[in-house]
Amino acid sequence: MTIFEKIIAGEIPSYKVYEDDEFIAFLDIQPKNTGHTLVVPKKVKTNVLEEDQATVAKLFTLCQELSNKLMKGLDAQGIKWQSNINEVAGQEVFHTHIHLIPYYGRDVEVTVGEEIIKKLG
Ligand code: 5GP
Repeated sequence: MTIFEKIIAGEIPSYKVYEDDEFIAFLDIQPKNTGHTLVVPKKVKTNVLEEDQATVAKLFTLCQELSNKLMKGLDAQGIKWQSNINEVAGQEVFHTHIHLIPYYGRDVEVTVGEEIIKKLG
């Protein structure tokens, strides 16, 4: 079982940004920046290259929606999407996920917590 399946099952707590039947998004426990979010299909595949095209389309549409929400709610000026595929590229959790990492253009304390979720409305 991947650590993300444990989060999906509610066995490990997380700060949830979004959830539906097919996807979950939650704050990264070791954020590169405040609001760093992981967008994850619930059905396990090792990485995005293993996903069918319909899932990729839905995943990227969700990344777009959540990026708009993060930028607006947290007043970010930019955002980086990242997906590490295989260990040599830095992948540590072998369950498809896209990192959404907001950038602010100003000093922002890097935190993880409920206060971030509240700002997203
Ligand atoms: P990867 O290197 O596989 O692209 O990234 C995996 C990410 O998952 C890392 O940024 C790491 O901080 C995050 N992560 C690992 N374990 C947990 C966890 O238990 N909870 C949360 N919220 N994030 C996790």
